[in-house]
Amino acid sequence: MRMIETDVLVIGGGPAGALLFCLLARRGLRATLVERETTAERSFRGETIAARSVVTLRELGFGPALAKHGFVELTGISFWENGERIVRADYRSFPIDALPIDIPQPALIEAFLAAAGGAPRCEVMRATTFLSLVEEDGVVRGAMLKTRDGETLEARGRLVVGADGRFSRTRKASGLEATITPMERDFLWFKLPRPVDWGSEAQLVVERDRHLVILPTFPDLLRVGFNLPKRGFEEIRKRGIDAFRSDIAALDPRLAKLVAAHIQGWQDTSFLEIFTAELREWARDGLVLIGDSSHTATPILGQGVNLAIQDAVLLAPAIAAALSRTANDVVRAAELAEFVAKRRAHKSMVTRFQRAQETSLAESSPLGTWLRRARLRALDLFPLKYRLLDRVLNAPHDMPREAIHVGAV
Ligand SMILES: Cc1cc2nc3c(=O)[nH]c(=O)nc-3n(C[C@H](O)[C@H](O)[C@H](O)COP(=O)(O)OP(=O)(O)OC[C@H]3O[C@@H](n4cnc5c(N)ncnc54)[C@H](O)[C@@H]3O)c2cc1C
Repeated sequence: MRMIETDVLVIGGGPAGALLFCLLARRGLRATLVERETTAERSFRGETIAARSVVTLRELGFGPALAKHGFVELTGISFWENGERIVRADYRSFPIDALPIDIPQPALIEAFLAAAGGAPRCEVMRATTFLSLVEEDGVVRGAMLKTRDGETLEARGRLVVGADGRFSRTRKASGLEATITPMERDFLWFKLPRPVDWGSEAQLVVERDRHLVILPTFPDLLRVGFNLPKRGFEEIRKRGIDAFRSDIAALDPRLAKLVAAHIQGWQDTSFLEIFTAELREWARDGLVLIGDSSHTATPILGQGVNLAIQDAVLLAPAIAAALSRTANDVVRAAELAEFVAKRRAHKSMVTRFQRAQETSLAESSPLGTWLRRARLRALDLFPLKYRLLDRVLNAPHDMPREAIHVGAV
């Protein structure tokens, strides 16, 4: 059996794993990235990057790559009910020098990998799947991998980083216990051409416990999320695509003609099961989890990519420090404790906010929806809304400068 020797074995080339790999490469560390797909064109994923991470990416030197590809800037967010705008936040009023952007995930990941390109001690292994962990005396020493040609490999490293997403196999293999909390509804996403006069705000269109999230998307599209009752996708499929199109048109008549022309079947939609995953421990000796594998968020306010990026930026210096401590020992969980504590605080705050919003959006009784409207109307009148949203949208505010500057490309 072929053996691979590395220092950091990153499993999963999504935003978390690809950025971490890039930052390790830029530090001259030895790293291997394992990704099961052959290209970055994976299934449809999140495309909105919160303003905080836009700032971080610029500081890391990715501004020109993002500009070269192009993106859509989102200028605000508004909440509509029965054709009336109940609350609106202008993203330009936040104390941060960036707007959230929408850019396809493959472009982002390719920018990270291109910036790592050519680093002498780094390798990207595509079409390779993580199978299981290699453990000795309770310490993780590496992983068993399988290539698409059917070859089984053993990769040994001083740290395995599980960045393999919301259904993480690394997490399951690690034995680190996750609390999975299903939300009351799931989501169906689809894309439509964006009318020229649409504007560039994110919109939430609500009627009782049904809602649409409508996001201007690169290059000239709308990305629309339609909430479904939990496990309601089969039911919706049984009713047929015409009934689905009618549901969308009833919620937002502006979309009626667009869905009629552009949603031909279920192949034009992507299903997203909504749950949160929370772990008490993110690390063991020789292993750490980041991104969705350590903390799956809900789509509210598009924080998944932001959390993944911030994880990678903060983890890279922690790994560098741990590796430099000894010549070849594994990275111990205790050495990553500060990283985990900081990142968990951010993620917990986002999850608390998302759960409260999800409960409020799932409200269907006349009294409940009246109270929701009253609360949002009151919020709209006070500048407090900017303080509240800024804490969630634009955290963290205390990224160590070292994490940014050493990793800059
Ligand atoms: C439909 C949809 C819409 C979303 N919209 C938004 C949004 O607008 N904004 C936002 O911030 N977030 C959004 N999200 C969430 C966002 O996509 C995730 O939070 C983000 O991608 C997490 O990054 P990650 O690197 O942790 O995981 P992922 O992006 O899931 O990457 C994990 C990688 O690991 C690979 N992998 C998995 N298993 C293995 C294995 N066994 N071996 C090797 N490789 C493996 C996968 O192929 C994948 O490339 C959305 C998610 C979905 C599904």
